[in-house]
Amino acid sequence: MKNNCTEEVTKYKSISLPRLNNLRPNIESTALKLMEEAGELAQLIGKYRGLNGEKCTLEENEVVSRIADELLDVAQVAVSMMFVLEETYSVDIHDKVNQHIEKLVRKGYIRER
Ligand SMILES: [Mg+2]
Repeated sequence: MKNNCTEEVTKYKSISLPRLNNLRPNIESTALKLMEEAGELAQLIGKYRGLNGEKCTLEENEVVSRIADELLDVAQVAVSMMFVLEETYSVDIHDKVNQHIEKLVRKGYIRER
């Protein structure tokens, strides 16, 4: 079977999010916050898809814009947790990113870097 993706170059999305310097996050607080934000994202998608039984009265572009906002909340908390792992536990996130990309290649999710 021919793989339609064989000619596709692997694309990367880079975003830069700040360390929240007015807070004192730790693994527990960031993990809880991550679940909370993921829940808000899921709730919004569920609402949009009418999974809560209510008819969605928002315009599609409004819903999609709010989904993007919530997704960025998730990303911000993930980044905050990375800062905690680096600063408190000396985890090398750059090294972890490389291992992560290697895993994606090994699993066949991407062809190469
Ligand atoms: Mg949120």
